[in-house]
Amino acid sequence: MGLEQIRIVLVEPLYGGNLGSVCRAMANMGLAELRVVNPSTDMNLEDARKMSCHARHVLEGRRLYEDFSSAIADCVFVVGTSGLEGLYRQHAVPPRAVVPELLRFSDAGPVAYVFGREDNGLTNEELAMCHRIVQIPSHAATPSLNLAQAVLLCCYEVFVVGGDYEPPVEKSPFADSASRERMFSIWNDLLLDIGFMKEDKADHMMQGIRRVMARGALTRDDVQIMMGVARQMQWAAKHGDPT
Ligand code: SAH
Repeated sequence: MGLEQIRIVLVEPLYGGNLGSVCRAMANMGLAELRVVNPSTDMNLEDARKMSCHARHVLEGRRLYEDFSSAIADCVFVVGTSGLEGLYRQHAVPPRAVVPELLRFSDAGPVAYVFGREDNGLTNEELAMCHRIVQIPSHAATPSLNLAQAVLLCCYEVFVVGGDYEPPVEKSPFADSASRERMFSIWNDLLLDIGFMKEDKADHMMQGIRRVMARGALTRDDVQIMMGVARQMQWAAKHGDPT
């Protein structure tokens, strides 16, 4: 399951800044193939270059089409987007919901994720040619997002499932009970030594400390640090400032 078959299609974009930002959003989310239908002749391509940043290759590699149907002609699945309610949009789904289907079809051939004009979105005829309509949940009073921001949110949802992102994993293993108990015993001694608690209240106070420490799962490294802190405090309490 890869992202290579996903084509981002922009229909009649007006602004170079948006075009460049779309390229950047695509590259951030592991996509590279941009199709542009009939862009504005006034488009400022210098803005596009500036906003594309490290995604210049996506911008330079964009393919131009004269009309929407030829831009999606080879695609086996087409997803349209709209920020507005209306005809063909009643069955719109949020971006996350369309991802499994989009990735499944991308095994079979190119799939298109289509975005509309900054001023007028996609026409009803264009939406009618899409298999699914995606609507990004947004505030009812201002439902329409910036074009590149809409592209980013949609591509992000695809990337989370289909991309090569590996969430960072904790490298230190979880501490076992024996090392946790060693840590608590050091803290017990420290807190008695510095007069934070008296012998008769120690069990009760240590229960509080245990509760705090149990809020997260401590790793071996965490336990080492907390033991080190306690030992140093004990040393400092006995010998004064080490500097
Ligand atoms: N008034 C226009 C604004 C278009 S914004 C309209 O919505 O018809 C430009 C493009 O960004 C839209 O065509 C669509 O592709 C995308 N977009 C903006 N807001 C969106 C939203 N809430 N959900 C899905 N796509 C959105």
